[in-house]
Amino acid sequence: ETFTEMRLSRPILKGVAGLGFVKPTPIQANTIPLAMKGTDICGAAVTGSGKTAAFIIPILERLLFRPKDVATTRVLVLVPTRELGAQCHSVASNLGKFTDIQFSLCVGGLSTKVQELELRKRPDVVIATPGRLIDHIHNSPSFNLDSIEILIIDEADRILDDGFAAELNEIIRNCPKGRQTMLFSATMTDNVDDLIKLSLNRPVRLFV
Ligand code: AMP
Repeated sequence: ETFTEMRLSRPILKGVAGLGFVKPTPIQANTIPLAMKGTDICGAAVTGSGKTAAFIIPILERLLFRPKDVATTRVLVLVPTRELGAQCHSVASNLGKFTDIQFSLCVGGLSTKVQELELRKRPDVVIATPGRLIDHIHNSPSFNLDSIEILIIDEADRILDDGFAAELNEIIRNCPKGRQTMLFSATMTDNVDDLIKLSLNRPVRLFV
């Protein structure tokens, strides 16, 4: 099966073609149709599997299909490091190039002030590391996670290994209960399993 056969909308297909992708990788073929229906997913997937596009494509489709009149931050992507955040932001911006979806990168090493101004404009998608996001939740009175519809936890095992379990739990508690959640992890440790129980609702488990 090719991307063209996956019932994606035209602007997303153009973004996919712009990146030179023709055939979905296994994680993409499994994740995209399920995620577009709103299902919670936990996937065992490593870097290199194409997992970034596997969660970004359904996010973009859902945002396009249920537009909002006012700017609100509707998607939060949590990543362990600023480098992964930058990579994810680049893939998302390319896939969303032919839409008006706004993306914002919220990681350490960038100016907090500049980020705060960006977050005030309510970008549709915020890609963040847990530490920096918690700074904004605690210190920017106007920023909260009340409008999040989709939460992605990418490389969950690394986020936990890096000692960000408390931050992760606080962020999850701040997201609305009715959201869709997708979690990806290279390894499925007991800690990751606890996190899945805490943050996902009747998830489909994908191992590819
Ligand atoms: P990721 O696992 O998300 O870090 O992606 C690994 C690499 O695979 C990136 O360089 C992507 O641009 C590339 N990639 C992802 N999906 C596809 C695809 N369907 N076809 C070709 N390359 C892809």
